[in-house]
Amino acid sequence: TLPTAVGGQGVYLIDAQGRRYLDASGGAAVSCLGHGHPRVVEAIRKQAGELAYAHTSFFTTEPAERLADFLVARAPSGLGHVYFVSGGSEAVEAAIKLARQYFVEIGEPERSVFIARRQSYHGNTLGALALGGNVWRREPFLPLLAPTIHVSPCYAYREQGAESEAAYSDRLAAELDAAMMAAGPGRVAAFVAETVVGATLGAVPPVPGYFAKIKAVCERHGALLILDEVMSGMGRTGRLFACEEDGIAPDIVTIAKGLGGGYQPIGAAICSDRIYEAIVGGSGFFQHGHTYIGHATASAAALAVMQTIEDEGLLAQVRARGAALRAGLADCPYAGDVRGRGLFVGVELVEDRASKRPFDPARRLHARVKAEAFARGLLVYPMGGTVDGRRGDHVLLAPPFIVSAEEIGEIVGRLGEAIAAAVAG
Ligand code: PLP
Repeated sequence: TLPTAVGGQGVYLIDAQGRRYLDASGGAAVSCLGHGHPRVVEAIRKQAGELAYAHTSFFTTEPAERLADFLVARAPSGLGHVYFVSGGSEAVEAAIKLARQYFVEIGEPERSVFIARRQSYHGNTLGALALGGNVWRREPFLPLLAPTIHVSPCYAYREQGAESEAAYSDRLAAELDAAMMAAGPGRVAAFVAETVVGATLGAVPPVPGYFAKIKAVCERHGALLILDEVMSGMGRTGRLFACEEDGIAPDIVTIAKGLGGGYQPIGAAICSDRIYEAIVGGSGFFQHGHTYIGHATASAAALAVMQTIEDEGLLAQVRARGAALRAGLADCPYAGDVRGRGLFVGVELVEDRASKRPFDPARRLHARVKAEAFARGLLVYPMGGTVDGRRGDHVLLAPPFIVSAEEIGEIVGRLGEAIAAAVAG
């Protein structure tokens, strides 16, 4: 019953009936440059004409090397090596295996435990789903999922209470510390977290200082820190890497979505020199691979996306437009909390602002908001289960970086109408 999308122009998608939809979520936070960007389209055309694909067991390619150089030159310090894959779940799988192989190489094979957070999402393949803390996505597959320890997310709106930010982040760091001790000395391979939580909580950034404390806990226990920036990375928060704002560097960071901007399927795991050197100096190769890793056309598209963001100064625009979007949404009906970084914005919907009481989950408000927005020609990414996997609703917004001030106003207006109609309906 879905309409057929036949075209895209800037922030708009167009269906076969000629209806235009303002793409305020970039699909699932993917389309960072909007649709039909001429520079990216031309880069794909040129690369496909010269060389679309060469298998990585025989060759490297120029676009893959140039893209890796571009990313490493801008990555958090110490992250010097890039492993290209075809999307976010694959990037997370590569990160899990890199972490595990690193410890095998350095003679710590007892390290096989992964700790992640409740109310998180790391992908739908079995390794990534096992890490994720999204209750309903995991449920049917629980018997297939590798055991993972889940600790609390950093979710200030509902869980900080009367504590100061410092006390709250101290408490969360202590919880991780206790989980590492309970797992046993030398057992934990890595702690995995989304730098800014995406689909499951709706653009929830950590409180200041949280990740510095978390990194210190990981270091104290000899565990790696893996940050999943599949959704929040590549400019979405107004920085190329979201963790720049937190002032820390992880051991591995995963990226995808905005890397290719939807023009080609591509993702990557970027790892520290320490991990790379342990593997190169040990067995000599990362025991992993997929047919399409390092794909030439995908790399050329991603390089064009990255260069466009940089050449057009779009990160500053993301920060400015994001602030305007959050300010506009503050008066949105039933908005309990408006949060996020840059053009990665979440609105948590509540029936009562003072008590933060969520709507009855049986109403499936998030699905109604999506339908009402769609009927108004607006694409947004709502989700339910915000509070605890069952209760709560939020709307995730992630418009293209090229969105204009007028279009921000359109998004705020149409979303407000959609929410009001969904609640009334
Ligand atoms: N990690 C995060 C933080 C994500 O938001 C997603 C997708 O939404 C994934 C991983 C999985 O990415 P993909 O759907 O490209 O496999």
